[in-house]
Amino acid sequence: MISDVSIASGASKSLQIDCDELKRLWQQPLRLFRLSNALREKSCGDVVSFVVNRNINFTNICIGTCRFCSFKHQKSFTLTSEQILERAGEAERLGATEICLQGGLAPGMMLEDYCRILETIHRDYPRIHLHAYSPMEVLHMSRNSGVSVRDALLELKKSGLGSLPGTAAEILVDSVRGKICPDKLRVKEWREIITAAHNLGIHTTSTMLFGHIESLDDRLRHLQVLKEIQLETGGFTELVLLPFISDNNNLGRIARSADLLDRLKMHALSRVALYPDITNIQASWTKLGRETAAAAIEWGANDLGGTLMDEAIARNAREAPSISAADLIELIEGRGRKAVQRTTLYERA
Ligand code: SF4
Repeated sequence: MISDVSIASGASKSLQIDCDELKRLWQQPLRLFRLSNALREKSCGDVVSFVVNRNINFTNICIGTCRFCSFKHQKSFTLTSEQILERAGEAERLGATEICLQGGLAPGMMLEDYCRILETIHRDYPRIHLHAYSPMEVLHMSRNSGVSVRDALLELKKSGLGSLPGTAAEILVDSVRGKICPDKLRVKEWREIITAAHNLGIHTTSTMLFGHIESLDDRLRHLQVLKEIQLETGGFTELVLLPFISDNNNLGRIARSADLLDRLKMHALSRVALYPDITNIQASWTKLGRETAAAAIEWGANDLGGTLMDEAIARNAREAPSISAADLIELIEGRGRKAVQRTTLYERA
């Protein structure tokens, strides 16, 4: 058994905690809480960061069949270039440093269509970081245009891509994926696309959709995959934990949502399992709600994500009011931490 005291006192730069120990910690919430806090303190001190950004979902038309999806079931829409540009301009006026672009897998959408969206924004707002397209979207555009993933990523980069969201990860275990998102890319493909991006100097986030049908072993396997990639490339900026929301989707008919303690413990467990390789653990206020996200910064998290301004996916599953930078600062400082506005790549904004 590891010594929590030795970790807190700094003897554990290369902490290796095996699966059995992580499972024991899971059963001992108080110990997990203390350890995750000690490791968060060692990695990030008292700083809790956030980014001022805007989500632009450019279409919800999608050939995908993910059972947890409520996004594609609302009224169909596809934004025109003018509408995208208008939203980007609004974001810049409101002080955004990042625009996050994701959409459904619209049939026939080619690589050049994805590039055009980036170029349109980048031409008029070159200072805004474009955080765009999930690994699934990258696969979709590569298939549609008959080019390799690497070539697609190179074209996107030339068009102004700054970084990639590590979404479409859900749970990185194929047997679970077969049940919740049977037509989505497999673990091997997710891994290859993320690694290809990192090798081209394109950073990505990483994510986990948890609290549905997966087991604790599946969550640990997922974290292990992330750790392996990070050790190989160092290209992940953070892990974003996304608790499954059971409203308005097919999976919600058979799957439970994680309860409050489970959600908090998962942030703590991720901190411990990924220490010291992934520094930033993000609590998503859109999925957790403001107060639970703020509580998660006492369970290993050190980031509250973005202001988003317009987040169609979350809004559809559960009303997600917008949040201002001032509100985020208040939440963070209310917990006695130092709030810092960051860029997408975790520099001070
Ligand atoms: S989660 Fe994304 S890929 Fe899956 S069905 Fe919904 S919009 Fe399509």
